[in-house]
Amino acid sequence: MKKILLLLLSFCCTAAWAQKLAPADRIKTEKGDLTVQPVTHGTVVLQWNNKTIWVDPYGGAALFSGLAQPDLILVTDIHPDHLDLKTLEALPTAQATVVAPQAVVDKLPAALKSKAVVLKNGDKTRQLDIDITAVPMYNLPQAPDAMHPKGRGNGYVLRVGNKNVYLSGDTEDIPEMRSLKNIDVAFVCMNLPYTMDIEQAASAVLDFKPRIVYPYHYRGQGGLSDVNAFKAKVDAGKKAIEVRLRQWYPTAQ
Ligand code: ZN
Repeated sequence: MKKILLLLLSFCCTAAWAQKLAPADRIKTEKGDLTVQPVTHGTVVLQWNNKTIWVDPYGGAALFSGLAQPDLILVTDIHPDHLDLKTLEALPTAQATVVAPQAVVDKLPAALKSKAVVLKNGDKTRQLDIDITAVPMYNLPQAPDAMHPKGRGNGYVLRVGNKNVYLSGDTEDIPEMRSLKNIDVAFVCMNLPYTMDIEQAASAVLDFKPRIVYPYHYRGQGGLSDVNAFKAKVDAGKKAIEVRLRQWYPTAQ
């Protein structure tokens, strides 16, 4: 009996532990730290200057229970791992401004839609003292029936203090990503068949040379991409790029 209890206890602890988010990182800017909280998959919470930004909030309300309410929500695309209406509606998002492409805004609940800021690729807006530029994200070769046709979704470049932060959204290693300049922190997707493999991602990262790169959005049809192999490829390029591997999949697979 004691053994069974112990077993049960250790199972419960493991389950509780599995729900825990990775510790947040802090990155210095000229105006205080930028806090990076990995949540899950393509979901990240950024905090800066006492403001909170949720990027593609997804995965159920429980994941967000310990996090600050958002002042701003960035959504990249319409797929349910980016625009998760159930999660959005279950959380205190009413005070937030949503920045998103038109295809996403069309699907928002009325309260969020009425004050959403629509950006198309190339557009800019300034929110919370942060300049936000929408950048392309799409699959190659370009095709209207691609999972991510060019122009529907947005990646984003944020100017946070003196740091440039890039969020890839769901993309392949498109020329627009390879030609990004002066990126300090990059979040780069890598999962098949939806975005790109680790070779493409490493090759692109070695091209645009962010100072720090976080692999994110790396759960594909065949399980998790080998982000250690991605790191080895980037490290082998000797471009002084810091690859930060974090736990993006806190819930059981
Ligand atoms: Zn996705």
